[in-house]
Order: sequence, then structure tokens, then C-alpha cells
Amino acid sequence: MEEYDLTEAQKNAFEDNQAEFRKFDDQLRDVREAARARLTDSGWEPAPESEDAIRCLSCPCPDFQGGGPEGKCKRGSCRHFLIDHDLPQ
Ligand SMILES: [Zn+2]
Ligand SMILES: [Zn+2]
Repeated sequence: MEEYDLTEAQKNAFEDNQAEFRKFDDQLRDVREAARARLTDSGWEPAPESEDAIRCLSCPCPDFQGGGPEGKCKRGSCRHFLIDHDLPQ
């Protein structure tokens, strides 16, 4: 691992940032779980296209397609961010 010459304040800043991002991960997991449940409640339960298909939770996109603008789904009818999609836990 590369060594960086960080001050105590910088180390703390990075640690705080990391903790904040992990908090966001937890929130995202909850949002995604609720989104999944909402779709199931609405009767939207399509069979996955393939074992590792990553469907979108914000539209009927059946599988995330990388390579869109700003990391978004390339599928024209979707164009949602990867985080909108049902990523494996
Ligand atoms: Zn998509
Ligand atoms: Zn979508």
C-alpha cells in the first residue's frame, strides 16, 4: 500500500468521510429494499433476464448497461444511475 504523508487533521477528515459514505450505503440499502417491496406490491415481478441481470428500480429496465453518460445506464429508456438499479448486496 502506498504511504501518504497526511496530517492528523487530514487523516481524521478521510476517516469522517469514509464513515459518512458508509452511512449513505446503509440508507441506500434501505431505500432499495423499500423500492423492491413497492414494486412487488404493485405486482411488478418480471423474471430476471439472466442470473446476473441488474434490473432498474426506477423504471422497467431489465438490466443495467454500462457506458452511458456520467456512469448512467446506457439503455435509452432508462438512463438512470447505477444506484437506481437492483445491485446485489
Ligand atoms: Zn437501466
Ligand atoms: Zn431505469
